[in-house]
Amino acid sequence: MPHNSSKKTAKNQNDPLQVGLKLAEILIDGSYLTKEHLKYGQRVLAKLTTNKTLLEVLIDLKSLTPDDIEKGLHGKAVKAPVGELLVELGYIRRRELELALTIQKENKGKKIGEILIEKNFISEEKLLTMLAHQYGVAYVDPEDSEIDKKLFSRVSTKEIQKLNFVPIYEEDDGVCVAFGASNYNDEQISLASKILGQQIIPALTSDKIVQDIIRKYDTQKKVIKEHRESDTVEAVNSLLLNASKEGASDIHIEPLKRCLRIRYRIDGVLVPFKEYPLDIMAPLISRIKIMAGADISEKRRHQDGRILFETEDGTLDIRVSIYTTLHGEKIVLRLLNKQGILLDMKDIGMFPTMLQSFREDALDAASGVVLITGPTGSGKTTTLYSALAYLDKPDISIITAEDPVEYVIDGIAQCSLNPKINITYEETLRHIVRQDPDVIVIGEIRDVFSAEAAIQAALTGHKVLTTFHTEDSIGGLIRLLNMNIEAFMISSTVVSVLAQRLLRRVCKYCTEEHVLEPHEIQRLGYKPSEFQGVTFQRGKGCNQCRYTGYKGRVAIFELLVLNELVKDALLSRKSSYEIRRISCESAGLVTLLEDGIIKASQGATTFEEIMRQLPRLDSPRPFSELQRIAGDIK
Ligand SMILES: [Zn+2]
Repeated sequence: MPHNSSKKTAKNQNDPLQVGLKLAEILIDGSYLTKEHLKYGQRVLAKLTTNKTLLEVLIDLKSLTPDDIEKGLHGKAVKAPVGELLVELGYIRRRELELALTIQKENKGKKIGEILIEKNFISEEKLLTMLAHQYGVAYVDPEDSEIDKKLFSRVSTKEIQKLNFVPIYEEDDGVCVAFGASNYNDEQISLASKILGQQIIPALTSDKIVQDIIRKYDTQKKVIKEHRESDTVEAVNSLLLNASKEGASDIHIEPLKRCLRIRYRIDGVLVPFKEYPLDIMAPLISRIKIMAGADISEKRRHQDGRILFETEDGTLDIRVSIYTTLHGEKIVLRLLNKQGILLDMKDIGMFPTMLQSFREDALDAASGVVLITGPTGSGKTTTLYSALAYLDKPDISIITAEDPVEYVIDGIAQCSLNPKINITYEETLRHIVRQDPDVIVIGEIRDVFSAEAAIQAALTGHKVLTTFHTEDSIGGLIRLLNMNIEAFMISSTVVSVLAQRLLRRVCKYCTEEHVLEPHEIQRLGYKPSEFQGVTFQRGKGCNQCRYTGYKGRVAIFELLVLNELVKDALLSRKSSYEIRRISCESAGLVTLLEDGIIKASQGATTFEEIMRQLPRLDSPRPFSELQRIAGDIK
């Protein structure tokens, strides 16, 4: 069934076509566009199936340039909803506007611009620049030093608090005054002129910037309400509790020009959480430093620390990193989840044949190195731990060197590295083999030393599990070669390389079909005819997923088990392209892209996530073959 919700009745003045037409007519009036070109453009637009706007089509047809639009619309206020204007001018996409309108319906009184900014569809600066352009004025975000403080003396203390604008500087022909976006009107301009006793050169800024500047100059506020210590303690506690409740992996606390911004990383993506006025910054940072055992008087150097925070549900283990920036110290808190759900191997998200191969060909091998690769936050640790839980048996001795230990598994000798007390990688790896282990876990290969240690341990008959930062499975082998490790050492010790990523999972509460457009199918590496009948899903956005369309994550894997042909290719130092080809053909390597396509076709993740996160090195296998390999019989 075709999805028609975006259709609107033609008489509606919000009709997208009407807004496009209004803009086109202004451009015709200014001789930037001819009537004939417009007519032709409309005919082309009517035939298109894609979501292009009228102006985009006119640009495609070379009837207009972006520069014409810029000049032609300067100072021409168009009576139309801001959202429609932004779509027509190409600042946001229709899908984004529709989502924002849905959110607006559920949050009465919220402005569409506000929602678009919150959702990161457009920056506030861009939005206001667009509006300012329409009004034919400048957008300003004045530095403190640019503001002529003397101008404030013309305003009585009583009036200051009520102002919706701020004077910035004086010129021969008047005073430049910045108005907050929601107070830019003739009434306010004449009020400003009356108060300042001069002609006004208006400029546009955000309401918040106006408020922030006024707060700063409001003499009465000089006696800043003392921020009580207990408030700060409360603020930090609720920050931590909240982050844990939301399932955040990190909290970013960063000083900006005019506020302290707090963001959470949830499902791998940073989400704005709160903004505090700058005056809370110092006490807040001191409080965190005290909790983390860092030096509170040290403000110029990077520091780190750790917080153990007791909650009703157990202890939160938090790594603290303090980094000095231009605007002050930025703090990142990483929440380690010690009681984190330890996933059973069968639940980590491998399709059945891959799972079987990973268990039998990689983990059950008598000795050798199993590499798990991927960027930070790709779920390597989760896979590593579920592999350990699988290997953990009464007759097996497992020992680890991790930085730091992220989950505690009973029966395994886990060691957290701590360079401060000289528990370094070097020191630990030297001791580890003397512990008579069967399985050794080296948290991460980060240099030649740890790579050699892993290989040596495997050569002496141990099973070694470790992680590595590389793009894909073949990249893991190549990188070892580039560390000057002999090819025969690699081919005789590395049993398998598992590459992985975490993609955001489609929210099940608002999922809907996404029929791929021909150009999207091509970006996946298929011809449109090869992809017929395959549909993906995506989330419209609802309050369950904070209007992101995603909830939770799904792991994508690429498992390479080295067979003789792959080892030969490695020994003869074939190119990574060749090794990859041989692995796909002879070792049944299913690439990250292929696994992503399989999972998207099952509705788990989206086309956009595949594009954003998975390497696209070669064309995927035919889709029917992928289905067969993945055992997805329909
Ligand atoms: Zn949802």
